[in-house]
Amino acid sequence: MTKKISVLGSTGSIGTQTLDVARMHGIKVTALTANHNIKLLEQQAREFNPKMVAVLDLGFAAQLKIALSDTDIEVYCGEEGILNAATEDSCDTVVNAIVGVAGLLPTLCAIKAGKNIALANKETLVAGGSIVMKEIKSKNVKLYPVDSEHSAIFQCLQGCPENSLKKIILTASGGAFFGKKRKDLENVSVKQALKHPNWSMGKKITIDSATMMNKGLEIIEASWLFGCSDEKIDVLIHRESVIHSMIQLKDNAVIAQLGVPDMRIPIQYALTYPERFFSPTFELNLAEISKLTFYEPDIETFACLPICRKALRNGGLYPTVANAANEAAVELFLHERIKFLDIADIVCEAVNSFSDDRKDFSLEDILSVDKETRIRIREKY
Ligand code: NDP
Ligand code: MG
Repeated sequence: MTKKISVLGSTGSIGTQTLDVARMHGIKVTALTANHNIKLLEQQAREFNPKMVAVLDLGFAAQLKIALSDTDIEVYCGEEGILNAATEDSCDTVVNAIVGVAGLLPTLCAIKAGKNIALANKETLVAGGSIVMKEIKSKNVKLYPVDSEHSAIFQCLQGCPENSLKKIILTASGGAFFGKKRKDLENVSVKQALKHPNWSMGKKITIDSATMMNKGLEIIEASWLFGCSDEKIDVLIHRESVIHSMIQLKDNAVIAQLGVPDMRIPIQYALTYPERFFSPTFELNLAEISKLTFYEPDIETFACLPICRKALRNGGLYPTVANAANEAAVELFLHERIKFLDIADIVCEAVNSFSDDRKDFSLEDILSVDKETRIRIREKY
């Protein structure tokens, strides 16, 4: 394959699986980045021989520079270093697998540099969807979804006439606490919340799955990717994670995308689109699974879901606030400073107490609202 990719967040769950796909299909890797895991980043750099690597943490970057001094690979550091990787000259597609709103600026810089984007970092669209979509249009670059649900919808839409979409049905596994009520969740531990039934992912998204914030973020992500309002996006609990999402068309035909839960399938499609290449993933065996189940989401217990819908309906900077509050709360929960149920309470409080009707805002406005929201929450807990 002649594609050249920069992988931001290459040491994470999506990043390492992206490199599996690159290895399998001989995709050239031009840049790699991490926050602080320089051990793995060094291994990846030696295997893929990119032009550059970047590490957010300055001290770790200095160590990596020494470790890679026998190679020609350039080592950059800090936020600027990550932006260098996002705009590396020879690359045509940037895979953004950074976690959190830290991915927003690299996405925007990559778009401005004319790169196509394979986007796993959903927080980019939740916090900055309006600006990102405007830049995508003005630069005439492509945005390919990596998130499995959005990849599924994108796949289902292939060949559908424009304006034929009636609604999107996002499937959700229900996370670690499906079927539980608020009283059952009062004292759940970090370890319990990190046990996802079907997917092995980074810590932040696994907690987001347990609170169902992940599905709330995905509703907002889908609204930007597919131009749908909140009432055109349904959520359906589907425990087996075999149907990755569905679309319903004007004539009520429903199209679904199925497969084993393995992120290498949507990652690969984002890199090979519109082509289909061989994949080493398992084949789906429906006879063995025998039964697929579906339930309505419990929006009373999992309050992150309806609050994200509210943030989407309010528009403006409300989704930015919901996302920032959630990132701050998840961090506090992972450090055992708050309880599991506090996460949803914090997100709801942040959105409900936010009052700002600006519809026209800049990147600086987004970043400052994001920062203020986090500071307020960190000071309180
Ligand atoms: P991980 O935590 O596994 O990986 C995150 C990556 O980003 C790591 O390389 C990490 O470096 C790096 N990183 C962390 N913080 C920063 C920062 N502030 N600036 C720059 N780099 C940073 O996350 P996942 O791979 O699970 O998720 C990545 C994104 O993809 C998220 O937005 C998630 O919602 C989305 N996603 C993930 C799925 C999955 O299956 N994992 C499925 C669908 C979407 P280091 O290793 O050094 O910490
Ligand atoms: Mg998903």
